[in-house]
Amino acid sequence: MSSLAGCRKAEPAHAETPHAEPSRTEFLLGTVCSVTLYDQAEDSIYRDIFSRIDEIENRMSINISGTDVDRINAAAGVSAVQVHDEVFAVVERALHYAEISGGAFDPTVGPLVALWDIAGENPRVPSHEEIDAVLPLISWRDVELDRDNRSVFLKRPGMRLDLGAIAKGYAADEAVEIIGNAGLRQAIVDLGGNVLTYGVKKDLSPWRIGLQNPGDGRGSYVGVVHGAAMTVVTSGDYERFFEEDGIRYHHIFSPFDGYPARSSLSAVTIITASSMDADALSTAVFVLGYEAGRALVESLDGVEAVFIFNDKSIRKTAGANFILSDEDFVLVGD
Ligand code: FAD
Ligand code: MG
Repeated sequence: MSSLAGCRKAEPAHAETPHAEPSRTEFLLGTVCSVTLYDQAEDSIYRDIFSRIDEIENRMSINISGTDVDRINAAAGVSAVQVHDEVFAVVERALHYAEISGGAFDPTVGPLVALWDIAGENPRVPSHEEIDAVLPLISWRDVELDRDNRSVFLKRPGMRLDLGAIAKGYAADEAVEIIGNAGLRQAIVDLGGNVLTYGVKKDLSPWRIGLQNPGDGRGSYVGVVHGAAMTVVTSGDYERFFEEDGIRYHHIFSPFDGYPARSSLSAVTIITASSMDADALSTAVFVLGYEAGRALVESLDGVEAVFIFNDKSIRKTAGANFILSDEDFVLVGD
C-alpha cells in the first residue's frame, strides 16, 4: 500500500489515506504533529516520541517562559547563559546556516517576529521607523558561543533568538531516533509539514510525500516527491500569514530589510537526510530567492529541492524525484 504524507499544517499526514493507519496526532510546537508507526508498536513508543518533542519544545520555545532560549533572550546584552547540550547544538547549527546563506537564514529574527506578530493575536504592518529600529538587532554575528561552558550570549540588549525555522526539523530527527532505537522498521513523522520517512515500506514501494498547492487553502497537492527514507520540508508564503489591503504578509522575513521575504518563489521544498538541515535550508532558500537559493542547494551534497513559483511554474534540482500531478502547474526544465 502506498501512503501519501502531506506537507501542510492543518491536518495530519494521512488525511487523504483511505485506510486507518496506526497514527497519533498531538498539538505541539505550535503545530499539528503526527506520527505513523506501521509496525505493531506499543503505546509507550508513541508516548516516548511525543514526550521527547515536548521536552524539546520546553527547551527551545520562545513562547514558554523559562526555556533555555527564553533565558538566553532575557539575558541579551547582559550575560551568557548556560544551556542544555542539545540547545547549544541547534544554535550552533543555526549559525552555520546563517553563515552559508550569507545571513538570509538568521536565528536572531526574534525582534521582527515579535514586531509583526504574524502568527499571534495582533498581526500588523509596522512602520518603516519601527522596522529600522529593530534591524540592527537582527545580527547572527552577535551571537557568541562558548563551547567549553555550553553557553550562549546575545551581545546586544533587545536581541532575541528564535529557533522556529530549525527546531521543528531537529525534533523530527529526534523522533526518528527513538523509532530506530525501538527497532521499528517503517514510520512517518510529520511535524507541521516537516515530514520525515523512516525505513523501507513492507511492499518495498517508494515513500510518497505530497507537496501542497500554495494557492489552495484546502491542501490539495501539486505533485508528489517519492524515494527511499528521506525528509521533505517546505517553507512557503502560504503557511502563516495575514492580509491587509490585499497584500499578503507572511512569516518568513528577510533579515536584510525586515519585511516578509519577496521573490518569484511561493514555496521551496528541500529533500535530504537530516530534517534539521532541511528545515534551516528551506527557510534560507526561500529568503534567498531562486537563483541564489538554488546555487546554495547545489553547493551541498545530498540535498535536492523543488521550487514552486508564484506564476505556477515549478523547477527542481536534477536529483529531486518529483512527479507533477496538478495540470494548473508546469514543470520547467531541470
Ligand atoms: P519555517 O520557514 O521553517 O520557519 C519560519 C519561522 O522561522 C518564522 O515563523 C520565524 O519564527 C522564523 N523566521 C522567520 N524568518 C526567518 C529567517 N530569515 N531566518 C531564520 N528564521 C526565520 N508557533 C505558535 O504559533 N505557537 C507556539 O507556541 C509555537 N511554539 C514553537 C516552539 C518551538 C520549539 C518551535 C520550533 C516552533 C514553535 N512554533 C510555535 C512555530 C511553528 O511550529 C513553526 O515553527 C512556524 O509555523 C514556522 O514553521 P514553518 O515550517 O512554516 O516555516
Ligand atoms: Mg525552516
